[in-house]
Amino acid sequence: AALSTYDGFDDPENPVPVVQIGERLHVSELYHGPTRAFKDTALQPFGVVLSGLAQARDEHYLIMAATSGDTGPAALDTFRNKPNIKVACLYPDGGTSDVQRLQMVTEDAANLKVIGIHGNFDDAQAALKGLLGSERFCTTLVEKHTQLSAANSVNFGRIIFQLIYHLHSYLELVRQGHIELGEKVYLVVPSGNFGNALGGYYAWRMGLPVEKIVIASNANNVLTDLIHTGVYDLRQRKLIGTSSPAMDILKSSNVERVLFHLFGAERTRELMRELDEEQHYQLSGDELQAMQSLFCADFCSDDEGKAYIKEYFEQGYLMDPHTATCMKAHASCCDQPLHAIVYSTAEWTKFSPTIANALTGERDAHDIDALKTIARLANTEIPARIGELFSKPITQTTLVDKEDIEKEVLAFI
Ligand SMILES: *Cc1c(COP(=O)(O)O)cnc(C)c1O
Repeated sequence: AALSTYDGFDDPENPVPVVQIGERLHVSELYHGPTRAFKDTALQPFGVVLSGLAQARDEHYLIMAATSGDTGPAALDTFRNKPNIKVACLYPDGGTSDVQRLQMVTEDAANLKVIGIHGNFDDAQAALKGLLGSERFCTTLVEKHTQLSAANSVNFGRIIFQLIYHLHSYLELVRQGHIELGEKVYLVVPSGNFGNALGGYYAWRMGLPVEKIVIASNANNVLTDLIHTGVYDLRQRKLIGTSSPAMDILKSSNVERVLFHLFGAERTRELMRELDEEQHYQLSGDELQAMQSLFCADFCSDDEGKAYIKEYFEQGYLMDPHTATCMKAHASCCDQPLHAIVYSTAEWTKFSPTIANALTGERDAHDIDALKTIARLANTEIPARIGELFSKPITQTTLVDKEDIEKEVLAFI
């Protein structure tokens, strides 16, 4: 049977619409999946393939995820009621938006477990790593013939699916008559762990005509510095909470994969060791040049991002705060008269308080108020699958201290 990999999207025949918002400016909307953020573009097909393989080979998997908001809902959705698969998802209580939390705690499938923890995202991630290193935990998995997998973009299975939409978006510009096949374009990517950008890099290696991959960041601008100066430096940095929280990352894990392709295994190991031990590394002049021949970067403050949201809204396009970080990088990097594809990674419904604030200057107390504000201003409806979250019963009520996570997960499996 054909794999129905994009069935959960608004239009399974065209899961990623590409729309024009400026003369040579296009938005590739990656958020039309079930959880309204770009994680679905990879995790929906990944779920179909992994559960298909697990059944064919009679294997059982436990998927672990620690989430700051978007990966958790996407991982839960894709594996809901899938045979041979269980998901345990850790989130920081109070560390996600209302919509993100409700997407997780209203999940009622028996193969899904959502665990809120007292602590922040780093605590959730550290707890996950602790679990993976626990002998009792690993022994239990072996006894239960269960293999472990992860739902974040360290998992290469996700990256493979993330190069498809780069190819698709380019071909869409050709089909829409904006460019000739072979004409170069800019790819403008709002980046955190660099999985989206890495997909663009592989698409380029496969022959996609790309002028530059433009890396957009928020105030956590470690990637901007790397691409401008060749220095990756964590020594003076503290993670800053921004209104594009999915990009609040300092150790961007997929950068290592680009270094590997550009500079080889030995040099990459050396650079990664320096980052681990000394919290910084520096590329040579030649290496920096190689990096800059394909990548360009800029970062955007929260206030600049909100100004872009307002500006584009007044021109008729509603974008989320992650997408908005791209507009500044687009302005500073795209200096050739070529078309640019900006990747939009979340629907307005997922980060509504920031957007409502950008549009009105006021602050709504809760997501539901902000959603209503935006729906009114944009003369649209709150999409049913977001609106209904607020009246769904809460089925996942586990909330524990870090020390009790292992017990909860073991009881679950
Ligand atoms: C995950 C995410 C990003 C960052 O993508 P990376 O592949 O980690 O660089 C950006 N925006 C949103 C809304 C996300 O969920």
